[in-house]
Amino acid sequence: MRTLQGGRTGQIKIDVEKPLSQARLKILAANRFFNMSKVSEILDNKGAMVLSVDINESVLDAINLMAQVNIGAVLVQEGDTISGIFTERDYLQKIALKDLSSRETRVGDVMTTPVVSADPSDSIQQCMETMTTCRCRHLPVVNDGKLLGIVSIGDLVKKMLDEKEAEVEHLSQYITGTY
Ligand code: AMP
Repeated sequence: MRTLQGGRTGQIKIDVEKPLSQARLKILAANRFFNMSKVSEILDNKGAMVLSVDINESVLDAINLMAQVNIGAVLVQEGDTISGIFTERDYLQKIALKDLSSRETRVGDVMTTPVVSADPSDSIQQCMETMTTCRCRHLPVVNDGKLLGIVSIGDLVKKMLDEKEAEVEHLSQYITGTY
């Protein structure tokens, strides 16, 4: 083991017994290992259940469903078509602050449309960028017009933290030579 000066930040230990090409291969393998997760992997764990309400149901029906299942958004359906999305924020801004009756208001009148969606092959980072751009915290995942599930910002953050934990583990194994 030779110790090299690593500049201002201190010392970096490098296992010089391993050929450089092998080390490079490991770095390439590690790069492939990192940032690999696709949004479809979240759905594999979480399942494909998507809750929706009919466009003609009341806002009260929608928030009752959201409260029962402890979720922050429901999709709004018109027949077989997803017409919009209704979230806690919609309730706050379009019903509560406007002093409208949730019993009297049709969810179709206060939903957001069009719905922004993700592709199952999108990476976690791409989904986060989409959410940041559309200032939303929920993304239905759609493939060829078929609804596969829905992910929230919480699902993405959890997956990212799991990935980072695996990344740290992977790097420490590499640095200590147990990789
Ligand atoms: P959220 O942060 O998800 O509660 O949503 C904030 C606002 O964006 C609300 O008006 C939602 O109806 C809307 N919204 C949430 N998700 C989406 C989406 N996937 N596509 C379009 N609008 C959305």
